[in-house]
Amino acid sequence: MSTTDRHTAIVTAAYGRRMQLRLEDGTLVDARIKGRELQPVCGDVVTAHPLVNEPEWLVTRIGKRRNELTRPNLRGRTEILAANLDLLAAVCAPVPRPDWFIVDRYLCAAEQMGIDAIVVYNKADRGEPDAAHAAELDVYRSLDYPTLVCSAHSGLGLDSVRGELRNHTAIIAGQSGVGKSSLINVLTTSDQRTADVSGTRGEGRHTTVNTIMVPLPDGGWVVDSPGVRDYAPAIDDPADVETGFREIHRLGQDCRFANCRHRREPDCAVLAALDKHSISARRYESYKRMMIMTEQRERRRY
Ligand code: GDP
Ligand code: ZN
Repeated sequence: MSTTDRHTAIVTAAYGRRMQLRLEDGTLVDARIKGRELQPVCGDVVTAHPLVNEPEWLVTRIGKRRNELTRPNLRGRTEILAANLDLLAAVCAPVPRPDWFIVDRYLCAAEQMGIDAIVVYNKADRGEPDAAHAAELDVYRSLDYPTLVCSAHSGLGLDSVRGELRNHTAIIAGQSGVGKSSLINVLTTSDQRTADVSGTRGEGRHTTVNTIMVPLPDGGWVVDSPGVRDYAPAIDDPADVETGFREIHRLGQDCRFANCRHRREPDCAVLAALDKHSISARRYESYKRMMIMTEQRERRRY
């Protein structure tokens, strides 16, 4: 095999040892991987080459991952759903009634993965966000999360959403019913979605969650993973919860104790800011809830 036969490609769908690749010129090919130790996932950058007299390509190498999107599977083991993401869009809407703690949990997960995040308030065709929702959206804006109001149905605000997603590899997350599938459908075209799934003949394709990467018309990708849309990864180390809350992390530098958890400690800059109403009390409640959840997980492990 000459070196010119070797291609760099992106995994756009993975089903066990088989996968679909998108080559640099945009061609989609089916592929498989040799050996048991390499497990490709959506978003992986791989080296592959065609095989003589075979329709499938062979993957020989998986590039180092910048990050991984994970969730526990039914047996409690961690399953990697996608790799190399760089944006999380936390979607909410007037209905179902927003659970801001869930939004915070997603934002926290994005900070943990070291990727950017945006907040998207969908279904704006039903009217402007009411005063309470608008105030919460302003809190996210004040934390420098791009915060957009849009409607998958009427098209309102979608250009701004497209602008934020462009040239990124994004995961769309949020409570069930907020319109994630509707958004993915209008932001991509239906041919892109069906082409991606039907193009893969891999066995076992119906036995696992279909995580696929769908190209965006202006460049970039959305990862469509039904298994993770309603799920935010758990945090293992209580010390990491702080990193997930930008304002608390920033203020935490000024606390008297380096390991301050900002609850009852003396000379805590976060509690002082809370007293002065210079941070959102609701966000602080989310922080405490995340911290309690994480501490409970930690105790269960020992
Ligand atoms: P998902 O569970 O987050 O994927 O939400 P879906 O995309 O399945 O949408 C849930 C419901 O909300 C469906 O009945 C959609 O038709 C509706 N929906 C989605 N987007 C909009 C929107 O922009 N405006 C309105 N009024 N309804 C929407
Ligand atoms: Zn503190």
